[in-house]
Amino acid sequence: MKILVIEDEPAINRQLVDAFKEANYAVDSTGDGEEGEYMGETGSYDAIILDLGLPGKDGISVLKSWRAGGVTTPVLILTARGVWSERVEGIDAGADDYVAKPYQIEEVLARIRALVRRAAGHVSSEITCGPLRLDTKSTRVTVEGNPVKLTSLEYRLLSYLLHHMGRVVSRSELVEHLYEQDFDRDSNTIEVFIGRLRKKLGVDVIKTVRGLGYCAEDPAQVDGKAAADS
Ligand code: CA
Repeated sequence: MKILVIEDEPAINRQLVDAFKEANYAVDSTGDGEEGEYMGETGSYDAIILDLGLPGKDGISVLKSWRAGGVTTPVLILTARGVWSERVEGIDAGADDYVAKPYQIEEVLARIRALVRRAAGHVSSEITCGPLRLDTKSTRVTVEGNPVKLTSLEYRLLSYLLHHMGRVVSRSELVEHLYEQDFDRDSNTIEVFIGRLRKKLGVDVIKTVRGLGYCAEDPAQVDGKAAADS
């Protein structure tokens, strides 16, 4: 999962970036409205946090231009407390949710988790795939109840595949959603990470779809389907 933070207040920007990295997200950030608009247009983000008062271009104009241009990424706006008209304007401009400043960082994390999972069609903060369970709140992963220790990147990889369970995800899509902007991207390394992840999980939930990519599937369901088809 990768998010974009657009916030010009350096301390708030840093706090958001640190908190989301700590929660195993890849995070790109900027303090400029115009640059943020470009990043949101061209990058593959699972959600965007957008401040409204920004140098370069204000948040509402950035949001309007994304929505007019067909950018459907979930957007959480940061508004001033008590200014209800800002929230209304933001939601009318295409925001999916808002948090008023000053906020508790846990609330921002929770709201982004909810936006990301709703965009992927999940209602619960826990995603299960056969014996595998991923808790997006605690970022804990268990197999048959036993905890599995993953690196931040392995977690991100697994979380992305599980959010899109049953769909084939290409290697280039994974690269887009796992690595930060300035990272030296090499799609071959995805294979290596998938290998490590499979080994750690010890269960067969990540299928390789030759020539297309990877797909997370409940092994029992796949077997059941195969049995029903034959
Ligand atoms: Ca601001």
